[in-house]
Amino acid sequence: MTAIKKIGVLTSGGDAPGMNAAIRAVVKAASHFNIEVLGVQKGYYGLIHDIMTPLSNQAVYNIIHRGGTILKSARCLEFKTPEGRQTAMENLKKNEVDALVVIGGDGTFTGARLIGKEFGFPVVGLPGTIDNDLYGTDYTIGYDTAVNTVVSAVDKIRDTAHSHDRIFIVEVMGRDAGFIALRSGMASGAEKILIPETKTYVNELIESLKTGLNEEDNSAIVIVAEGSEYGGAMEVKKIVNDHFPDYDTRVSILGHMQRGGAPSAFDRVLASGLGFQAVKGLTEGQHGVMVGSINRKIVFTPFDKAIKYHKSFNVELKNIAEILSA
Ligand code: ADP
Repeated sequence: MTAIKKIGVLTSGGDAPGMNAAIRAVVKAASHFNIEVLGVQKGYYGLIHDIMTPLSNQAVYNIIHRGGTILKSARCLEFKTPEGRQTAMENLKKNEVDALVVIGGDGTFTGARLIGKEFGFPVVGLPGTIDNDLYGTDYTIGYDTAVNTVVSAVDKIRDTAHSHDRIFIVEVMGRDAGFIALRSGMASGAEKILIPETKTYVNELIESLKTGLNEEDNSAIVIVAEGSEYGGAMEVKKIVNDHFPDYDTRVSILGHMQRGGAPSAFDRVLASGLGFQAVKGLTEGQHGVMVGSINRKIVFTPFDKAIKYHKSFNVELKNIAEILSA
């Protein structure tokens, strides 16, 4: 095993709060292991276009609490081609980079897996996505912050819903996963939560709303995951309108605010711990893996597994949410 002297770090795909805390941890851990770090701008785009600059401990001062990513993120189609990846490899060689830490989601890991397979280049991945949809870790970096952002928005929406006796349909992110919807829905006491992982019949939705709308509180909140079987909040609104024509039903699509903002303490700690373990793992010969935390234990999961498998959904939590919302 050749000693690693220099690593590159990049953030790729959708940004997530806590990516900066992860970059900081990678840089400081590398310094601890006497490894130099190059920061690659805009994900794989920066590899192909050779935009890499040294990152010192000073460069990551005062970023642990900042949302977004100082390295910027981008979607890079060129990296999906063998020619693009070849150019990226040549630039890594030219800059004497021995290994990479990539922070992103399953698309990012798909690209990382390919350069491992094609060139034997060592890469360790950090799970950075608000969606929490990655196999191989209980929580992804950014998820907790996004859930807290949704909860604080729904708390405010509930105030106005209550004042006007309205039904609010709130659409949240998560792509084809319902982790954000379930957790934020439970935390905000939503009357109904619609997620892609479990089927909800229209009559169940209607019954939940009928129970939720009563003399004490004639308003209701429905949280809809963007990937739910009904489509988004607009589609759910049509169904609700048909059954509750006397109510003023409103839609709120929270959108990109869920990606931004200062990371929660949980995400900062998660990013710091995993960032350190990514570098330590590289020094111990780990590559082609994502580093995650399962039951508070550090786990290295091969990229193909992290990409292929789906994280199991907490059905019990969903059932409890149903019982408590009645
Ligand atoms: P995320 O990592 O959040 O899932 P994307 O799916 O946009 O986000 O992937 C991020 C980047 O990873 C893409 O812009 C591309 O550069 C790279 N990537 C995604 N899929 C592949 C693929 N099949 N082959 C090579 N690179 C890929």
